[in-house]
Amino acid sequence: MIAEGLLAPYETGDETPPELAQWALARIRQLSAHEVGHTLGLGHNYYDSRAGRISVMDYPHPLITLNRDGTFDYSEVYDVGIGEWDKVAIAYGYQDFPGGTDEGQALTQILDQAWDRDIRFFTNQDISIHPKADQWSNGTEAPAELNRMMEVRRVALSRFGEKAIKRGMPLATMEEVLVPLYLHHRYQVTAAASVLGGLDYIYAMRGDGREPVRPVPAEQQQAALSALLATLDPSALVLPEAIVQTLPPRPAGYFRHRELFPRYTGSTFDVIAPATVAADHTVSSILNAQRAARLVEQSAINPSLPDLHGVIDALIAATFGVTPNNPYEAEVSRAIERVVVDRLIGLAATARMPQVRAIATMRLERLQNEIPSWTARADQSDAAHYTLLARDIRRFLDRAAGTVEQPATLAAPPGAPIGEPAMDWLVPREPRCSGRDVPLNWK
Ligand SMILES: [Zn+2]
Repeated sequence: MIAEGLLAPYETGDETPPELAQWALARIRQLSAHEVGHTLGLGHNYYDSRAGRISVMDYPHPLITLNRDGTFDYSEVYDVGIGEWDKVAIAYGYQDFPGGTDEGQALTQILDQAWDRDIRFFTNQDISIHPKADQWSNGTEAPAELNRMMEVRRVALSRFGEKAIKRGMPLATMEEVLVPLYLHHRYQVTAAASVLGGLDYIYAMRGDGREPVRPVPAEQQQAALSALLATLDPSALVLPEAIVQTLPPRPAGYFRHRELFPRYTGSTFDVIAPATVAADHTVSSILNAQRAARLVEQSAINPSLPDLHGVIDALIAATFGVTPNNPYEAEVSRAIERVVVDRLIGLAATARMPQVRAIATMRLERLQNEIPSWTARADQSDAAHYTLLARDIRRFLDRAAGTVEQPATLAAPPGAPIGEPAMDWLVPREPRCSGRDVPLNWK
């Protein structure tokens, strides 16, 4: 489905495009190697190395790049063979040294040589904190990779249509293929967010002479914030006419299931809800309570780093400050602004760190005071939207002591091909079941 969405490969609708099977087989080969790796004792390695794809123990995202002529290059969609880290890990774990070898020294040498080639190990506990440990991501600079993927997504969405499904299939089933394309960037959003308030650390040992911790430099954090905010542009979140005009309700026998977008509209396709889902993913990644606490603390130690005030201001400017190009974008824009306010309320209500709650609360109060001046010059739809936003903020700020408000949001369809949360192979524990997505396959 990922390939069908990106390539819309069915010209006549009767052919069998060979790349679909090739992509699937490449992915299954990688997965097979991954499972053999676990069998040999290897844990997940999500490190974004300058040496490229260094481990089959990573969770791979398909790599699709845009050629100059507008076609897609998918020659390296998934890696082939085993990675450099895998060789290092097996050598470290299984090497038999000749008699008389100082084994401790020889083992250290294996790791030191890997280190020099940027072959490192970061696993489940590091994801979304370490700026270079990300699941389902590509590249080494997450913000730049996010910008690149948004361009791939934009081009693929502009070409999306009935060529994404076979002839004779209900047009409504284009939605199955649309979901992974529309959310093409979702895991790269998570990766870019890990740069914001990110801490570049290693598990340093006394005496190894290496730098244990270093906050991600300010300009890289700003690049991450810019890339994240670009995913909230209404023009990136509206659906092309070809989709809006051709997606009918689902016929009998093709019932709705969890891998479709949620709907406010009953059985008809909802052209706003996908934008709400995508925006909520970005906004909740930026306003994650632990990230917010790290922003407060990092900027306290080094004031040149982004602080939570600035991040929230940038988020509000990028969403409330846009001028939509048409009524559809205006409606999407209102949906995005609602997400921002709901997530700010969630942060102000539930963040564990008091200073995070304080900053979020102050910003909400300021927003509430600003909104009346916008309402005065807004059209009827904006006026209604801002009236409710202001009232909801006020109601939240005036809430009875002890009550906590966690706004309801639209849940994204599941995207990872395997259960979540990710299994931690190094520190075994009972998998937590969210109740919504029963993890059938722990891989
Ligand atoms: Zn695994």
